[in-house]
Amino acid sequence: MESSSLSWMKDELQALEAKSRRRSLVISEPLESGWMLRDGRRMLNLASNDYLGLAARNDRAERSLGANRGASRGAGASRLVTGTGVEVAELEEQFAAYKGTEGCLLFGSGYMANIGVIPAVVGRDDVVFSDRLNHASIVDGIVLSRAELRRYRHRDTNQLEDMLKAASSSKRKLIVTDSIFSMDGTIAPLRELVWLKERYGAMLMVDEAHSGGLYGTTGQGLIHELGLTEQVELQMGTFSKAYGAYGAYVAGSMMVKESLINQARSFIYSTALPPQLIVTIREHWIEVKAASLAREQLQYKAAFVRDSLRDRGVQVGLSECHIIPVIVGSDANAVRMADRLQQLGIAAVAIRPPTVPEGTARIRLTLMSEHAMDDLRWAVEQIAACVAEGEAD
Ligand SMILES: *Cc1c(COP(=O)(O)O)cnc(C)c1O
Repeated sequence: MESSSLSWMKDELQALEAKSRRRSLVISEPLESGWMLRDGRRMLNLASNDYLGLAARNDRAERSLGANRGASRGAGASRLVTGTGVEVAELEEQFAAYKGTEGCLLFGSGYMANIGVIPAVVGRDDVVFSDRLNHASIVDGIVLSRAELRRYRHRDTNQLEDMLKAASSSKRKLIVTDSIFSMDGTIAPLRELVWLKERYGAMLMVDEAHSGGLYGTTGQGLIHELGLTEQVELQMGTFSKAYGAYGAYVAGSMMVKESLINQARSFIYSTALPPQLIVTIREHWIEVKAASLAREQLQYKAAFVRDSLRDRGVQVGLSECHIIPVIVGSDANAVRMADRLQQLGIAAVAIRPPTVPEGTARIRLTLMSEHAMDDLRWAVEQIAACVAEGEAD
């Protein structure tokens, strides 16, 4: 029996359905060479953030099972309650050295890091300057902080500067940005942001979810590649994307680390990562450091797909990396196109508002270093044909 107090849910779901915005879950499983089973059907996986193929590969080879033997399965409590496991302490120290910072603090996930860090560094009387296309977890962190939100146009450092000038000097200021924008594949102007934050006395937080493991000589990220490790106070990143595991980190000075231990509620009031997962993270990190060739292949393949789609008149926005949006406009178009691609054997998801701005619904393509060039050539032709069909409708 459906409870009548929940009838609003049915209405809400139906309303989403009518707007082509209802989301649902399907059963999937990774296969080799960037293929996958989705709802039991074989598809080329252009929808994963497992950019270097680490998450999928370990599942198949069951490597982590062997490696994890000896580490316990659960942490038992928050680190402030049960203490920090020696594996965690070591990983934090070594990872900080890799990032070129004094310290590093692990969080349960990227989402938890963002909703924990932002309220830890700004509050009711402060101002946050946030790129309009920042990830939802950053937006949620800002809401939780109760700070005043000033959103600047995507990568518009002129507008940001005007906002910084207008902000009262007595307030604490935080500029926050994705390093690589997850729905557009664009790259943040980090050098300009560093210049601005120094000029106007603001703090800078950079979310490296999509650049960690992929930029820098051994995958340290974009901040490191640009030589800005000393300047960015809060360097957040995840182990869930290129590192192919789960969990997140915030790297910075020892003082930042101490402050977060005392102020970040998602750190304080949540159980530490499982020790077995720490072993997996460490093992994947070793592979990431050695993956220079895979990093090059990923960018080469992404450039091929981007350029080939552009040559065929497909709108891929301003993408400059391994995330390539095929912007189709209406939600219905995006859903229809994703369905069509899946029928053809290509898994690529429709991204709709509120994840992206109204009228910019898209198919988001993400590349993996292990994708075969022949598969990508084939996919480009299918996608271009689908877009042409959609326009003819
Ligand atoms: C995926 C993502 C997150 C969330 O990370 P999880 O580890 O998946 O919780 C945060 N920020 C950005 C930019 C992301 O793309």
